[in-house]
Amino acid sequence: MIARNTRQKQVILNILSNTTCHPTADWIYEEARKVIPNISKGTVYRNLKILSQSGRITELRIDKSARRYDGNGHNHYHLKCENCGNVFDLEIPVRKELDQWAAEKTGVAVNGHNIEFFGLCRGCLLKINRS
Ligand SMILES: [Zn+2]
Ligand SMILES: [Zn+2]
Repeated sequence: MIARNTRQKQVILNILSNTTCHPTADWIYEEARKVIPNISKGTVYRNLKILSQSGRITELRIDKSARRYDGNGHNHYHLKCENCGNVFDLEIPVRKELDQWAAEKTGVAVNGHNIEFFGLCRGCLLKINRS
C-alpha cells in the first residue's frame, strides 16, 4: 500500500518536473494514466493536494476556471498570458522585502507572498508585432 502511494506520487512529480506549462489537475491525470492505466482521478487530485501541502509542488490559483500545478515548490512569479492563456515562470528574483513592507505597514505577520502578472507572453508579442 505504501509502495503504491509512493509510486503514484513519484509519477505525478515526474510529470510536473518534465513540463513548464503549469498544467491543470485534469491534464496531469491524463498524463498519469499513460504510466498507471488504472489510476483514478480522485487519487491524482488527492496526491496533488498532499504534495502541495508539503511544499513539494505549488498550487496556483492564477486561473479562475481550474487549479494549476507547478513542479517548482520554491516561490517564483508568474505571468498569465491574456492572449494564449498559458502560464509562464518569470525569471526575476522574488522581492522578499515586500513581506516586511506589508507587515510594517499593516501590523500583520507575513509568511510569504505570491505575485501573478497578467499581460502578453513573448511568443504572443512576437506574433502581434509580425502581423
Ligand atoms: Zn501568449
Ligand atoms: Zn512556475
